[in-house]
Amino acid sequence: MEKRNAPQHEHRLATALSGVKKLQEISTRLVTENNINQLYNDILDAAVNLMEADMGSIQLFVPESDELVLLAHKGLDGRTVECWQTVKVPACTAFETVPTMKRRVFIADIEHCESVTEDDREPFRWSAIRSIQTTPLVSRDGKVAGVLSTYWNCIHQPTEYNLWLIDILARQAADLIERSKAEKTLRESEERLRSAVLAAELGTFIWDLEKDEIKPDEQMLNLLEAPAATADLAVLFRSILHPDDANRYESAVEKARAPGGPGLIQEDIRIVLPRGGQRWLAFYARMYSLTAGTTEYMAGCVMDITHKKTLEQHKSEFIAIAGHELKTPVTGIKAYAQLLTDRFYENSEETNFLIIKKLGKLTNRLTKLLNKLLDSTKVMDGPLELNLEKADLNLLIGECVDDLQSLTRIHRIIFHSADRQTVLVDRERITQVLTNLILNAIKYSPDGGDIHVTSETTNDGQIKVSIKDLGIGIADGLKGRIFDRFFRTDDSDMQRLLGMGLGLYICDAIIQQHGGKIGVKSNGQKGTTFYFLLPHPETAVVTMSKSPDIKHTLRQSDNEHNQTA
Ligand code: ADP
Repeated sequence: MEKRNAPQHEHRLATALSGVKKLQEISTRLVTENNINQLYNDILDAAVNLMEADMGSIQLFVPESDELVLLAHKGLDGRTVECWQTVKVPACTAFETVPTMKRRVFIADIEHCESVTEDDREPFRWSAIRSIQTTPLVSRDGKVAGVLSTYWNCIHQPTEYNLWLIDILARQAADLIERSKAEKTLRESEERLRSAVLAAELGTFIWDLEKDEIKPDEQMLNLLEAPAATADLAVLFRSILHPDDANRYESAVEKARAPGGPGLIQEDIRIVLPRGGQRWLAFYARMYSLTAGTTEYMAGCVMDITHKKTLEQHKSEFIAIAGHELKTPVTGIKAYAQLLTDRFYENSEETNFLIIKKLGKLTNRLTKLLNKLLDSTKVMDGPLELNLEKADLNLLIGECVDDLQSLTRIHRIIFHSADRQTVLVDRERITQVLTNLILNAIKYSPDGGDIHVTSETTNDGQIKVSIKDLGIGIADGLKGRIFDRFFRTDDSDMQRLLGMGLGLYICDAIIQQHGGKIGVKSNGQKGTTFYFLLPHPETAVVTMSKSPDIKHTLRQSDNEHNQTA
């Protein structure tokens, strides 16, 4: 008896061994597969192979919608594929238990199985499927990743051994799918984070609070202007903290670290840069620890907000100055209006006339201020409207110089005119530029002196107008920002010379729109020369739309020009 069964037994053993060997080979391949779609196809091939089946499919289980989504298929007819693309789980009565109950379904003959409805049978028939087994892909932590099915086109009864093999494959496949999905999600989220950090130019760091050691990224080092090899970055960081912000920062850290504290720091702080100047940083950090009850680490990021802070500062200064500037004429107008009412009452003609004249002057001053404000918003919103016509530039300058000379006794405005220069300009706007530059020359030379206005033709045929004063000058570092909206120097001596920091911003826009360039030269101590270049009328290209980019580009080349000038 024993002897008779021996070859059969040996054959079964050999089959078993080859199955296990196959599984082993497949496992090695699956573990090293990184491409998730290839992984699905490899699992499917392995299942069809191990089960000696004719066809197969893998469907992903989406618990949120209770749906099975077809991921990979082998040997199925196109109509079946289309029909099984997305399947609502409870709709298919025979198979609903697979993902929800985590149980295998095996049907040896679909045509004679009572739990398969006639409608459900159709897609099987399209692919000539007669027999099916569907195994849930349950991962080690109990999650159902999907289902793995194999199909035969005849009535089929898989052996216990085949089912054992598919169970092992299914468990491994579920773990791999879960792992691949988790890795993909992690990769995507890392990529998203990296792009956001790069876009915002954030410096990031981890601070070991026990050892007082900072692990910075490159951008953090850049922002602190610290060399890459800085040994004690934490010490360096504290040493460059602005003295006015150091206490606030330290107490924010202390508060965040305190038990039951917020665990968060969100502070705007200044650092004093090693090479001079200061930088505003938005400092965001969160405390965390690897052992309960202590705060060992602080992870966070820093962002350069100097520009934003400067703008905020200019904005509030601007509001204060505009308020102040507007108050003077308004108070005057109010007082004279009151006086006029009283005088009319008393009816003295001559005095009334003088008061009305003063009222008119004050209203003019108010109108000029308001126009400046309005112009600056117009420049922000788009191009100014230009009324272009050919004009003799020397005539325009001459009229302007005569008008402005009458405003000052301590300055002499000297005009060095070139030969007749015809330009294609908006007379009013160019007069506005000349007035602004000459008035600044007067305003910023409080001790008086000569102001030279020169017009000339450059070698390349452009028309250049310069306004040179002997006043307080402009520091080198400020020349690049002098044309910014609301820019005013912080010099306390100059604070008394009230202005809104809008004049040069508007001049810059007007000259650019004429196709020209404006610039400044100053040795930083005494005297300033502003100049503008206008194209020859034959070659003038007037900019009718001025995007911020155009402005930026011109401003950059302008700075280069300043440096070489
Ligand atoms: P404001 O109304 O403040 O004068 P501007 O835009 O005309 O506005 O000028 C901006 C700043 O540029 C001034 O606040 C001043 O600091 C500086 N500035 C302009 N012209 C001169 C000059 N000729 N000499 C020195 N500084 C000047």
